[in-house]
Amino acid sequence: MESVRVRFAPSPTGMFHIGSARTALFNWLYARHTGGAFILRIEDTDAARNKPEYVEVIFQALQWLGLNWDEGPQPDGTVKGDKGPYFQSQRASIYKSYVDRLLAEGKAYESDGAIKFHTPKTPAIVHDLICGDIQFDRTNEPDLVIQRKDGSPVFHLVNVVDDLEMGITHVIRGEDHLSNTQKHLALIEAFGAKPPHYAHIPLILNPNGSKMSKRDEGASIADYRNQGYLPEAVRNYLCLLGWSPKDNREVIAIDEVVAKFDLPQVNRSNAHFDLNKLFWINGEYFRAATIEALEPMAREILERNGIPTDGCDPAYFRAALAIVKEKIKLGRELPEWMSYFFRDDFDFEPTAVKKVFTPEGLANLARLRQRLAQIDAAKFSATDLENEFKALAAATGQKVGAFIHPARLAVSGRSVGPSLYHLLEVLGKDRVLARMDRAEKQAGS
Ligand code: GLU
Repeated sequence: MESVRVRFAPSPTGMFHIGSARTALFNWLYARHTGGAFILRIEDTDAARNKPEYVEVIFQALQWLGLNWDEGPQPDGTVKGDKGPYFQSQRASIYKSYVDRLLAEGKAYESDGAIKFHTPKTPAIVHDLICGDIQFDRTNEPDLVIQRKDGSPVFHLVNVVDDLEMGITHVIRGEDHLSNTQKHLALIEAFGAKPPHYAHIPLILNPNGSKMSKRDEGASIADYRNQGYLPEAVRNYLCLLGWSPKDNREVIAIDEVVAKFDLPQVNRSNAHFDLNKLFWINGEYFRAATIEALEPMAREILERNGIPTDGCDPAYFRAALAIVKEKIKLGRELPEWMSYFFRDDFDFEPTAVKKVFTPEGLANLARLRQRLAQIDAAKFSATDLENEFKALAAATGQKVGAFIHPARLAVSGRSVGPSLYHLLEVLGKDRVLARMDRAEKQAGS
C-alpha cells in the first residue's frame, strides 16, 4: 500500500480559526494513525492579504496544539529534513511550468491577458471518503481562470499543482472546498495525473446552527491560550467535532484517538460547537494535570495580569498553585485566586470586612494569632493547624468557622479561597502572623 502523505494548507490571513485547527488535527491524526507524513504548506500566494506575522500565528497555534509537522524546521527549533514547511510564494516557477504545459498542449488559452483552462463540460463525480460519491453537472461550468492578468496563479491551480508535486495521497479539508474539488479533478486529469483521495470534513456550526465565523465566541485558537485553556483539552475537544470513539466517552487520550482514528468514520453531518463541553473537558484535564505541567501556563497568565512570579521561590509557587488548582477549572481564574500569594498589600473585600471583622471576629482573630504564634514554624502544617483551630474552638465554646472566616480574610483579603489550613501552611508562619497583624491594624483604623 502507498504510504500516506497528507498536508495542512492554511492561508495566512489573520487569526487561527477553530475550523483550521480541526482540519490540521484530522490531517495529523490520519498521518499518525497510518504512519504517514503530515506536511505543512503555507498557501500565501495572495500577497495583498498575507502577512509574515500571520504565518507566525499558524506556527504558534500548531505548536501549542502539539501538531508537529514532518518536514522542515519546527517552531521549537528542531529540524526534520531539509524540505518544508512549504511556502507557495516561493514556488512561482513551478506553477508557471504547469501553466505553460497546459498552454502548449492546447488545454489552456489566453484571454484578455489572463490564462483560462478549457474546463470540461461533462459531469464529474467526486468520490469522497466521508461524503460519498457527489455528482457535479458541469454543463454550464465556465472556463477556469488559472493565471491572472498580473501573472499570478490562482488558488485552484497552485493547490492542485502542489498536491501533485508533493505526492499528497489524501486531501483532508473543510467541506467548504467540496465544490472546488470537481475543478481540481479536471485540472489533475489535464495534467495526466492520478487524483488523491478526498475527505471533506463537516463544517463547525454555532449552537444556533449558523456557520461559525471568525467573530464568533470560541472561534480563535489564540483566545483559548490566552484564557488558560490547556492545549490537550482543546485538542481533545476538537477531536470530537466530527469524530467520536463511539462509546460516549468524551475525555480520551490522544494516543487512543491516533490508534482509532480513520476517515470513513468521520461524521457526515455538521458538528455543533459547544463551549460548555469544551469548558467541562478542560476542567477534567485541569484536575488531572500535574503542577509541573500547569506551571508555565500559570506563570504566563499571572505575568500577563501584572503579577510577576519569577522572583518567587519555585517551591512556594508550586505549593500555592497546587492548592488553588483544586478550586478552579481554567487558567483565566488564576490571577484572582493567586495574586495575594505574591503581594502583602492586598485589599480586603469590603463586604467581607463588614461581615467578618466584627468585634467578635477581631477578638477571635487576636486569640488565634496568639495561639499560632506558639506553634513551631516547622510544624505549621495543615494537619497541625486544623487541630489548633479545633482546640481553640472547643476551648472558647465556638464553632471552628468563627476562627476560619477571620483567618481567611486576614491572610488573603478574601472570603473564599483554597482550603484554609493548606493556605496557612503554604503561606507559612511568618507571613500568616504578619498578615494577621496588618488586618488587625487596618480593621482598627
Ligand atoms: N488554503 C486553502 C484554505 O485555507 C486550502 C484548502 C485545501 O486544504 O485544499 O482553505
